[in-house]
Amino acid sequence: MARPPSTRQLINWDHRYLWHPFTQMQEWEQENPLIIERGKGAYLIDTEGKKYLDGTSSIWVNLHGHRHPVLDRALKKQLGKIAHSTFLGLSNPPAIELARELIRIAPKGLTRVFYSDNGSTAVEIALKMAVQYWQQRHPEAGPKNTFLHLKLAYHGDTIGAVSVGNIELFHSRFKPLLFPTLEAEPPHCYRCPLNLTYPACKVACIDPIKQILKARHRDLAGFIIEPMMQAAAGMIRQPAGYLKQIRDLCTQYDVLLIADEVATGFGRTGKMFACEHEQVTPDLMAISKGLTGGYMPLAATLATDEIYQGFLGRYDEFKTFFHGHSFTGNPLGCALALANLDVFKNEKTLVRLQPKIKLLVRLLQPFQDLLHVGDIRQAGFMAGIELVRNRMTKEPYPFRAKAGHRVATIARSKGLILRPIGNVLVLMPPLSTTVDELKKMVEIIKESIETLQID
Ligand SMILES: *Cc1c(COP(=O)(O)O)cnc(C)c1O
Repeated sequence: MARPPSTRQLINWDHRYLWHPFTQMQEWEQENPLIIERGKGAYLIDTEGKKYLDGTSSIWVNLHGHRHPVLDRALKKQLGKIAHSTFLGLSNPPAIELARELIRIAPKGLTRVFYSDNGSTAVEIALKMAVQYWQQRHPEAGPKNTFLHLKLAYHGDTIGAVSVGNIELFHSRFKPLLFPTLEAEPPHCYRCPLNLTYPACKVACIDPIKQILKARHRDLAGFIIEPMMQAAAGMIRQPAGYLKQIRDLCTQYDVLLIADEVATGFGRTGKMFACEHEQVTPDLMAISKGLTGGYMPLAATLATDEIYQGFLGRYDEFKTFFHGHSFTGNPLGCALALANLDVFKNEKTLVRLQPKIKLLVRLLQPFQDLLHVGDIRQAGFMAGIELVRNRMTKEPYPFRAKAGHRVATIARSKGLILRPIGNVLVLMPPLSTTVDELKKMVEIIKESIETLQID
């Protein structure tokens, strides 16, 4: 057998043939990328055998660690049967069993599972379902084709998902392609758009949303929101009671609530789904990242029976939901997702997570005293540390200072992988991370921030 290519060779080929996501390739071509060959638990191991703590859960997907025996076995077992068969006109056991399990654990009232491949498609599907639902179920309501979303929202990178997103840096180029939407200020307490302070503010940022719903509900198909935490926005956490109020307003004004739980789902916030913190059932819910425990691309859009009923009719009424993907209901992914839920049960993942969440709160407290740290925001095992130039005025570092990137580079040299969002350092470790590993991750971040020197 031919010898495997050396790290040098791999880097050369990467530089020559690849185009990486969210990456300025001109810079990338000047750097030596880490090439991850293996993983074990909370660790990633590169082609040189060097170990790194996976502080991002491989971009928010991994839950039980790499090479988990139950997940590894589930994949091999399914592979012994079939890798894929179509979901158009056929079904398969893992997809059926998984749908049943998902409905069992999902917020009460969600009763149907529509599969796809990634978070963006799960969101696209929710948007399309919402629009078609209103057309078919309530034609008397007139055209309800618009969506409301929060500013700074991120719901994926396909055009529909970008349309309901609002991250200037990622999205502005594509404006000519996007459909129009309505936007509302997010409950960003550190940089409050109303210049108020929580809790004295009584969550006044809900009022403008109320006004929009009152004025525009006739046009609105849905309100899409990441419950509890706007993750890619830079870990912006919603105050308690916020989501519940949004749910009530949506109900009052006949606007569907679409929960994007792609980042928050599967234990990230300390409960299986973030909606549970406020006993909220959305009308549609998008899930993906943690669905297979971070092993394979799989996503689902969950819907209520009320929505599902809107799509039923005679064949020639054309109420069918005309949407699907080549890999919809992929048996390998579904088998892994089933194994993922087994691990949650057998290892009591959520129970064992609680003390580690409390520990993370305690470990992050001293960060408030660090020179560059403006704010710390956490929900369960999702944490954001916002670096600022001036703690009094909250003046951010300019983009070109690459403050977050520089801290991440220092952290990497100390054995921790991070992927910051601008000036916000993000720590999102696998739920299985041990107490010692968690302490080590936080210690490395602290040392890296302390080492940071900008002008
Ligand atoms: C990552 C993410 C998406 C997009 O998921 P992809 O699998 O990357 O397409 C959508 N919504 C939220 C909240 C996310 O974090």
